[in-house]
Amino acid sequence: MTAQRATDLRRQNLVRVLDVILREGAHSRAALAERLGLSRAALTAIVGDLITLGVLREGGSEPSQGGRPLTLLVADPDRYAALGVDVRIDRIQLLAVGLDGAELTRASSSVPAHPTPREITESLGDTFATLRSSLDHELLGYGFAMPARRADLGITHEIWGWERVPMGDAFRRIAGESPYGVLDLAEASCLANSRQPQLSGMSRMAHLQIGAGATMALAVEGRIDLDLPPRWGDVGHIPLGLNDRRCSCGRDGCSNAYLSIEALSSRVPHVSVEEGPNRISRLAMAIERAARAGDVDARHGIEEVALATSRLVVVLVELNGLQAVTIGGYPLFLGEDYSRLVDQLVEARLGYPSPVRHTGLGDDAALIGASLVGREIGLSDPYRLRRG
Ligand SMILES: [Zn+2]
Repeated sequence: MTAQRATDLRRQNLVRVLDVILREGAHSRAALAERLGLSRAALTAIVGDLITLGVLREGGSEPSQGGRPLTLLVADPDRYAALGVDVRIDRIQLLAVGLDGAELTRASSSVPAHPTPREITESLGDTFATLRSSLDHELLGYGFAMPARRADLGITHEIWGWERVPMGDAFRRIAGESPYGVLDLAEASCLANSRQPQLSGMSRMAHLQIGAGATMALAVEGRIDLDLPPRWGDVGHIPLGLNDRRCSCGRDGCSNAYLSIEALSSRVPHVSVEEGPNRISRLAMAIERAARAGDVDARHGIEEVALATSRLVVVLVELNGLQAVTIGGYPLFLGEDYSRLVDQLVEARLGYPSPVRHTGLGDDAALIGASLVGREIGLSDPYRLRRG
């Protein structure tokens, strides 16, 4: 074996050890060696490296058959952190998490209506400076969640009037020398939800993100496939068999024509909220309140969104062989009646219990998913930390 090959192999094994602990929590050296098919000597050396790098530490113990308790290894929460950034149409949120996944600090700012790329960049920079000043940890990786399909191609945003606007320089300015990854909102939310206990054991799941339009992402075994073609997941123009509403693309019956916040809002023009951060979720809450107070238009609007959601969920489940679907965006604020109706309609169509699942993350899923990406990408080459 050449020296280079030996180093590569050691690096790969380092990442595998870290991956098990970050995803599943504390393990003993013996359990890791057995799980990964490594000798005890090789594993002890790798763990030694990871402890020296400040990435793992010993924490707690568990009983063993031999009598002497086994020391457990956990992520070291003290030295490094990862940053997640969630850019929405009406706000920017930042979240720093320790390597153990615990939240350290967050910061947010509002986005002006129809922002220019420069306004987004400046707002990002200011919010980051605020967060940085209250954080003692070193940031080792960054994840950005953006409202765009295939965010690496640039940001396309119908409402902002953005067409493939490159943001790489803005991200690089924030991340500095550290590695970063970019996902769209559906991908980031999907990643975070797929790692939640409610989804454990589900090998194939999708997340449906509904806001200005509908997008989706697929997680297989808790991983997002980022090599899908550019249009994949842009589910806003799937026909739902509800053929009386025209879509912005010119055709009748696309899912966006029923699911976008504008579609819902147009059904209840008498319900409005002030501009500013979280306008879309505040609008959804106001419509839900109106429906509960007896506003028939609001109730019908929510029912139409539920019908369209159920149709789209059924199409996605049938096409992709999904075991679970999570939903994000403004429908999270449409209340219990909406969720119940979606479940009923999905179940009636599929003929078995609804695969729609709710994790505790709610609207935080994209932000938390972005921080997971930051952590993963920051630890993809742990030896880099020694040089940094
Ligand atoms: Zn369309």
